[in-house]
Amino acid sequence: MREVDFGTAPLTPYRDVLGAERLDRLREAAEHVAVALHGRRVWNVNSTSAGGGVAELLHALLPLARAVGIDARWLVIDGDPEFFAIAKRLCTRLYGAPGDPEPLGSEQLRHYRKVTELNGTALAEWVRPGDVVVVHEAQPAGLVDVARRLGATAVWRRHIGRDVPNEHTRDGWAFLRRFVEHADATVFLTEQHRPDWAPRPHIIPPSIDPCAPKNMELTEREVLDVLRCTGVLGGGDGEPVTVRPPVGERIEVRRQVTAVREGPPPPATVPMVVQVSRWDELKDMEGVLHAFLAADVPGSYLTLAGADVEGVADDPDAARFFDDCCRRWAALPEEDRRRVQLLCLPMEDLRENAVVVNAVQRHATVVVQKSLAEGFGLTATEAMWKGRPLVASGVGGLRDQVVDGESGLLLGDPHDLGAAAGLIRRLLTDPELARRLGEGARRRVDEHYLPDRHLLDWANLIGSAVAMEVV
Ligand code: UDP
Repeated sequence: MREVDFGTAPLTPYRDVLGAERLDRLREAAEHVAVALHGRRVWNVNSTSAGGGVAELLHALLPLARAVGIDARWLVIDGDPEFFAIAKRLCTRLYGAPGDPEPLGSEQLRHYRKVTELNGTALAEWVRPGDVVVVHEAQPAGLVDVARRLGATAVWRRHIGRDVPNEHTRDGWAFLRRFVEHADATVFLTEQHRPDWAPRPHIIPPSIDPCAPKNMELTEREVLDVLRCTGVLGGGDGEPVTVRPPVGERIEVRRQVTAVREGPPPPATVPMVVQVSRWDELKDMEGVLHAFLAADVPGSYLTLAGADVEGVADDPDAARFFDDCCRRWAALPEEDRRRVQLLCLPMEDLRENAVVVNAVQRHATVVVQKSLAEGFGLTATEAMWKGRPLVASGVGGLRDQVVDGESGLLLGDPHDLGAAAGLIRRLLTDPELARRLGEGARRRVDEHYLPDRHLLDWANLIGSAVAMEVV
């Protein structure tokens, strides 16, 4: 287990985005909590510091929590490949998909417990009685009971889910429930994912960080320079590009993306449909590919972009899904292959990676998030903040985020490729609708999914927890 070093956010850039009034309200609430905590710490425990939604969320929130006076910390658990394969299977089943064909039986339980025990021993070195420990997701869930034994208040936060339970979710819960049902409180991203038995449940949607490299403003010039220099678009001369985020050091973008495509990179002028996601069956990149081709809008181009499959420590299946997707692409007729690129974005430098994601999203004419199941779908929030018109499956948190026809278009049945194609075509061919939905999307994020609202929700939860010594 190791501690992630994340520093303290400067508040001025947040004041510029949120306005003084919103920031003052947040500081006031945080002050009350800091007084109630009285020197006790708020630990967050998860399974990776890079890649995926949980890491993204913690990077966005914790430096700001510190800046307003909460002693927030972040620990990442250790595990061997077998443990991560079990945890991945568990997460996939909780999403409602079978995942790999292996079981979640007594042998897996034994191994999960063994790794949990090792992490538990490490946790005891950090956590003191009275601290608050927020355990994120299924991988470290076994630490809920450990934290309680250490005298801490243990909160389990779930980030994934399936709207309607099925045999796979039941399989997942049969494994996981025992580890989380004694938590002092549980937190869900959306009401739809809360099981009946959840102890002291709270609904807290996540937020994005508007000042982070992923979401900061970029000029049109910067967007094009970044995309050309990394090889997402054609016309680059290989020269690195430097951008200056409102928080932290300047960022040099220079690494090339790994691209699977036919012919040269597309020019900046083509209308671009984009999905940015992990390479995972539930993100349905292949479905996006087929829906895009079926939309059949002349001159348009599709970019499917995901983190480099070598770069995400807790996701052993990514390479397999990327390869599957490449095979689907390779089997297309040449004229179709010429309209689609599959990109792996380098993960060596996370801030550089974030700037590339930012530029890809900003450049998109239409953003798609055609997930078959979704926890919340931060990629959608990110694109909406950039004022992009979005087609999103009506599942999980995507359904909360997108008000159909106001802040994007919802795809009722995420498996319906014909309907997905129709929505993509609508946005590509109706610029006025696309503009209106893009503006609505930006407003929606401003009102609901920025860090001040998120931290206020946590301040309430932690405040009530420490006030009563139990949530
Ligand atoms: N992401 C990233 N680099 C990449 C691809 C994705 O940082 O190359 C980020 C993406 O911007 C988003 C997160 O990974 O912030 C994915 O979160 P989401 O909630 O969409 O899905 P999850 O991966 O947690 O299922």
